[in-house]
Amino acid sequence: MAKVISVTNQKGGVGKTTTSINLSAALVLQKKRILLLDMDPQGNASVGLGVDTSQLNATIYDVLLNEVTAKQAIVNTESGVDVMTANGDLAGAQVELLNEIGRELRLKKALVAVQDDYDYILIDCPPALNVLTINALVASDSVIIPMQCEYFALEGLSALISTVRTIREALNPKLTIEGLLRTMFDKRNSLSGEVSKQLQNHFGDKVYSTIIPRNVRLAEAPSYGESAISYAPASKGAKAYVDLAKEVLSIARKKAA
Ligand code: ATP
Ligand code: MG
Repeated sequence: MAKVISVTNQKGGVGKTTTSINLSAALVLQKKRILLLDMDPQGNASVGLGVDTSQLNATIYDVLLNEVTAKQAIVNTESGVDVMTANGDLAGAQVELLNEIGRELRLKKALVAVQDDYDYILIDCPPALNVLTINALVASDSVIIPMQCEYFALEGLSALISTVRTIREALNPKLTIEGLLRTMFDKRNSLSGEVSKQLQNHFGDKVYSTIIPRNVRLAEAPSYGESAISYAPASKGAKAYVDLAKEVLSIARKKAA
């Protein structure tokens, strides 16, 4: 049965989508079967893996509205990652689900049909705490929180941790924090080092030892519809995500032992 992990942070532009795409591709390299769910109306994860979002018959929007099954909204990509796609339609789901009973459980229910087809299901969340993110957190076993080591990062983090706690108490008792990931890291910046230290003091071994550096190849790859893992495998950015995949798997092995 797949482990479901949401890649989430309500703060925008912290590397959620870059992490979702490249961790997915790196896990495929490690022979894992991966489904990436694009839970963001921006559709960046879909486009970043080469999906033409204007040509889709069914997306995650139709899944949430119970109009199609999960399988019908999944596309195979060249990276080996399967993607449950999204496009602008998804922005409407928020309003359309407003009066639906059990609206927070839609995704969880839909995923039951595909959870034996994958080892991991990663969910790229939007930068907001809306019904889409809540659906993702309710369907998840754990969360990966990408963050930039800058001044306001810790403030946003405590809000996010309290959200995770609220969801755990109200809707999903098994939800845990998988790990905190330092992204776009610039080791020449002394503030990054400072914030990074505070993170480790607060969260100990929940902070991944893999650090994702600022690397232009990671930013370029999506415009070619590829992960950096295939677009620039020798780049520092791609290698960091390969290391992250290994770290995620090694933590899972330790837990299972
Ligand atoms: P949003 O909140 O809008 O969904 P996000 O959290 O998904 O954003 P990304 O889209 O992954 O963040 O990253 C924001 C921008 O920073 C993108 O242009 C991306 O290409 C770039 N970027 C992400 N990680 C890195 C990195 N390690 N090095 C350089 N650029 C990066
Ligand atoms: Mg994103």
